[in-house]
Amino acid sequence: MNTSFLSEDMCKVLQVISRLPGLGPKSAKRIVLHLMKNKDVVLENFINSLSFIKERSRCCEICGYVDEKSPCFFCSCDLRDKSALCIVATTGDVWAIEKAGFFNGAYHVLGGLLSTFEGCYPDDLSIDMLLGRIDASVKEVILALNSSIDGQSTMYYIIEHIKRTAPHVRISSLAKGMPIGSELDYIDQGTLMSAFIGRRDVDGVEYNRHHEPSIENFSGKNEKYIEIARA
Ligand SMILES: [Zn+2]
Repeated sequence: MNTSFLSEDMCKVLQVISRLPGLGPKSAKRIVLHLMKNKDVVLENFINSLSFIKERSRCCEICGYVDEKSPCFFCSCDLRDKSALCIVATTGDVWAIEKAGFFNGAYHVLGGLLSTFEGCYPDDLSIDMLLGRIDASVKEVILALNSSIDGQSTMYYIIEHIKRTAPHVRISSLAKGMPIGSELDYIDQGTLMSAFIGRRDVDGVEYNRHHEPSIENFSGKNEKYIEIARA
């Protein structure tokens, strides 16, 4: 596209927005035009929101969740069951699980997935932080990672290390049946709940068969999802 009629600064704005996840040049153009047309209200709110992210958001020093405080909401809440630790790739995954409303344990956010293609290696993730926080008080680690190749590679890497450093811990992963390559954030709440309830020990033992009802770590407030999961 010929952009010689645009200023250098305008090209930069379009470029910055077009590189955001899920956007491209066309949507960037629409967003910029919309913001310029509605400077007083929409743009003002947009700038304030971005300032909020810049100034107030921070990674929790315990779990890696992005929140407004550290320790975060989950780590500082006495009502959460800290003996069940759910490992996810991103803060967005925590939002997806919380939205479904069935899990009442604690989280650990890795900050991504291992990927040789994207150049993401163990040191780039909060794996050491995870291993350092699994003490005797942690009874179960639930790996809730995407069913992509990167998700599965990350899962087995973590399993290997937890088995070495914390052999007392039960390690489980989400049930099979998750859409291949799917991200937690895009899975419907019923499927996600079902995958949690039907989670399996990594040695292949179906968790619930040996520990009925074994939803003690779940709040149970979403009865309909429990029914879906058991159907
Ligand atoms: Zn935290």
